[in-house]
Amino acid sequence: MAYNAWFQCINGCPGEFDLREVIYRCPTCGDLLEVQHDVEALKSRSAAAWIQLFDDRYRRNTYPYGSGVWGKKEWVVPFIDNENIVSMYEGNSNLLWADRYGKQLHVEDLWIKQCGNSHTGSFKDLGMTVLVSVVRQMMAGGVPIDAVACASTGDTSAALGAYCAAAGIPSVVLLPKDKVSIAQLVQPLANGALVLSLDTDFDGCMAIVQEITKEKRIYLANSMNSLRIEGQKTVAIEIVQQFDWEVPDWIVIPGGNLGNVHALGQGFAMMQELGLVNKLPRIALAQAERANPLYRSFQEDFKTFEPVTAQPTLATAIQIGNPVSVKRAIRTLQRFNGVVEQATEQELADEAARADRTGMFNCPHTGVALAALRKLVERKVIRSSERVVVISTANGLKFADQKAAYHMGALEGIKPSHRNKPVELPADPKRVARAIARHVEKSRLLVS
Ligand SMILES: *Cc1c(COP(=O)(O)O)cnc(C)c1O
Ligand SMILES: [Zn+2]
Repeated sequence: MAYNAWFQCINGCPGEFDLREVIYRCPTCGDLLEVQHDVEALKSRSAAAWIQLFDDRYRRNTYPYGSGVWGKKEWVVPFIDNENIVSMYEGNSNLLWADRYGKQLHVEDLWIKQCGNSHTGSFKDLGMTVLVSVVRQMMAGGVPIDAVACASTGDTSAALGAYCAAAGIPSVVLLPKDKVSIAQLVQPLANGALVLSLDTDFDGCMAIVQEITKEKRIYLANSMNSLRIEGQKTVAIEIVQQFDWEVPDWIVIPGGNLGNVHALGQGFAMMQELGLVNKLPRIALAQAERANPLYRSFQEDFKTFEPVTAQPTLATAIQIGNPVSVKRAIRTLQRFNGVVEQATEQELADEAARADRTGMFNCPHTGVALAALRKLVERKVIRSSERVVVISTANGLKFADQKAAYHMGALEGIKPSHRNKPVELPADPKRVARAIARHVEKSRLLVS
């Protein structure tokens, strides 16, 4: 049975477009496209057989199926030749039981999906492997492409730089000047991307990249390109697989451009349609209060949506006021009985640090999700008995500078409630012993 997938309009306008065509928007209404799979063909294999296949491939080494994304190849881009796949063994990230932190929050069945434990340190790898692989397939088929370009708040550019470098394809990244961390800036530089540091914000970079990719030889890699969604949706499948094919009650996810929440929903919807699961989780989308257009819309039951000008936030990857995927994100939240919560700068910084104290090392966006979770538990929207998965979107090491500033008390406007400063002492064993005794005493008080 030949599986197939194509682009079609998210509003149902007529027309199916080849995934190897350079097209990002519906020619009829101008809205986004999404990837549609031939579900009837996929149904020719039973749910049990799909589960068996995915489990057989999980973390194995037969290229490319050991990748968390390409282990689900038939559900992602079925027709691509394996020799054109550009994979870094992405996905397969750990899903850890946050036992001690969960007890503090009164959620005993709390899990963190560590998407930042990936090749470039964020979930963006999941989508980028698909996009760059399709570009390579297109180039092999004679489509003239000179370079792949994206606007980024940091993590997309790191992923694009790495995957393009692995494939030998030139990449171009547009970053808002002084708004990404050193760690994020250095990744595309190291991988040889053309890094353009523009005097604007993310939304400004997004407008420019759309302009330059009207020239079809420069291929657009932002998430309005739905190929990325196909890779990102595998996180839903992987979570369920890691629970031995059980669906959790809640997924909490931070959102900016809102592609990832839509991707998550697509993954669950596809599993339900093909009979691998018989229920859907609820979804809680978390935004920074300083970039909260979806939170505002949710207050009005999504009846209206107004873009905002995003204010500076520690959660730089979600400092987005005019999210490209807002329409499909709202549809996802409606379908998954979703809610939207927000977190202030103080809340996100403290919550990331509080969770760090139980062994994690959170990025600020994960801090937003955790702070939102705390509020939802306090309001009893999320119940103590429910199984909750928080999507941790990036590795905390990418944000080492701001995390250090938190502990040094150097973050403007933030009073660090969980601060831990280095203790400077002379090289004197007695002074060292005293410091240890004080530390042990303090830890005892905290536990009791
Ligand atoms: C991209 C990104 C997000 C936001 O994802 P969207 O799809 O834009 O909503 C959140 N956290 C991190 C670390 C990211 O890189
Ligand atoms: Zn349309």
